[in-house]
Amino acid sequence: MRLYDSLTREVRQVVPADGRTLRVYSCGPTVYRYAHIGNMRTFMLGDLIARVARFEGLGVRWVMNITDVGHMTDDTSDTGRDKMDLAAADEGLTPFEIAAKYTAAFHEDRRALGIGDADVYCVATDHIDDMLALTRTLVDKGHAYEVGGSVYYAVESFPEYGKLSGNTLAQLKAGHRQELEIDPNKRHHADFALWKKAGPNRLMKWASPWGDGFPGWHIECSAMSMRYLGDRFDVHTGGNDLKFPHHEDEIAQSEGAVGHPVVGTWVHGGFLQQAGQKMAKSARNITRVTELADQGVDPLAFRLLTFGTRYRSEMDFRWEAMEGANERLSTLRRRMAEWAAAGPAPGPEAWSEAARAFDGRFRDAVGDDLDMPQAVVVLSEVVTSAAVPPGERRALLLSFDEVLGLDLDREAREAWEPTAEMRSLVSERDAARAARDFAAADAIRDRLVGMGLEVMDAADGTTVRRRG
Ligand SMILES: [Zn+2]
Repeated sequence: MRLYDSLTREVRQVVPADGRTLRVYSCGPTVYRYAHIGNMRTFMLGDLIARVARFEGLGVRWVMNITDVGHMTDDTSDTGRDKMDLAAADEGLTPFEIAAKYTAAFHEDRRALGIGDADVYCVATDHIDDMLALTRTLVDKGHAYEVGGSVYYAVESFPEYGKLSGNTLAQLKAGHRQELEIDPNKRHHADFALWKKAGPNRLMKWASPWGDGFPGWHIECSAMSMRYLGDRFDVHTGGNDLKFPHHEDEIAQSEGAVGHPVVGTWVHGGFLQQAGQKMAKSARNITRVTELADQGVDPLAFRLLTFGTRYRSEMDFRWEAMEGANERLSTLRRRMAEWAAAGPAPGPEAWSEAARAFDGRFRDAVGDDLDMPQAVVVLSEVVTSAAVPPGERRALLLSFDEVLGLDLDREAREAWEPTAEMRSLVSERDAARAARDFAAADAIRDRLVGMGLEVMDAADGTTVRRRG
C-alpha cells in the first residue's frame, strides 16, 4: 500500500517495520459530546488503512486513543477551559460520567458505520503515569521546564519544530499573534503545556512531582502510542486540523524523548463540509450518525458516499447525494441477492481471466493511496460486466467488501432459505442432541458445514446460515 505522507509531502510505499504487522495509531475522539459524521469520516481513515493492509495479507495492530482530559477549548494557546469540565458543568454530570456517556455513543456510531474494532482503545486518564514519566524524561533532557506547578515544552530546544505543519520557529516569530493573551510563564510564546497546575475548582486532577495537576492534551498521544506500538511504528492518522498544534507537538515530545523519528508515515484526512462550511458545532451545521437512520438512510451508505472523494480532499455533504448513495447501496445488495439465487460464488482459484483482471484493478486502486473513487468505478464495472458470470461477480464483490465494509451480501443473506435436505438434517441433529448422541450430532454438523453452512446452537435448537 502506498500512502501520502504529510511530513515528507510525497506518496510512499508503506512497509511494516517488522515486515509483517502494520502498526497504526489513530487520534480518536474527545468524549465530551456526540461525534458528527465529519469526525466519523476521519475515524474511517484508520479503519480503511487497516482493512487494506489485511486485504493485502498483512497483520495489523491498530490503536486508537480516547481523550477524556486536558483538551482545552483553545488548543493553540493553552488557555480556555478543559472541554470535559465544560461539558460536565453543562450537563450536571461528573467528567467521568460525561466520558462514559460519549464513549459509548462513539462506539455505537462507529459500529453503525462499519468501522471495525481497534486492537486497543486507550483512555487518557488510565495513562497518567505514562504521561508523567514522559514529562519527567523531557525535563531531564532539557526539552521541558517547570514554572509554578506547570511544565512546559520548550519549542526552541527542538530545532525541527514545525517540520510537519510548516509552523517553524521562524514562522511562529513572524506570525506572532499579538491579540492572544500570552502566558507570562512561557519562555517562548509557542511553548506548550505538558502538565498544568490544577485550579481550585478543578475536578479531574492527579498528584505529580510538580504538585496536583492534569496533563496537556498532546502528551497523551506520545505516551500511549509509544506504550502500545513501540518507539518506531508505521502509520499515524488524524484529521487535517490535528497537524498543528497537536501532531507538531507530538513529534517534538516523542522525538525529543527518544532521539529519533517515531512515526513512519503521517496520514491526514480532509474535512467534511456541509453547505460549504466545515462541519462544526459552532457553525450549527452538524449531522450525527443517528440522524442518518432517522432520515431512512442506512449509515453504511454514508461510507459509500465518502468513497466518492479522496480521503485527503474536503468533501461536501449534501442530502441529495446521501439519498443517491443509499439508493445505490440498495441496488448493489439486490443484485448480490439475484446472483446468489443463480448459484454459488466460486473461490478465486476458479475465477475467469476477466474476473482476475477486475480483482487486480481493485487492488491497484485501494493500494494507491486509498483511491476509493477508482475502487468504486471498478465495482460499478463488475456489476454491469457481461464478461464475468453472476457467481464470479458476487465472489468479486464479496472480496471487495472486505475493504469497502458495505455489507453487500445483506439481502442475499436475508433472502436465503435452507433446502429441504438441509432442513431435515437440522431436525435429525436436534433429535440426536435431545437423545444425547453427540457423536451423531457432530457428524451431522460436519455435513452441514460441508454444504457451506455456518451451524449455530440456539436455545431452541440448531440454526444454520450460509457462509459468505
Ligand atoms: Zn492525538
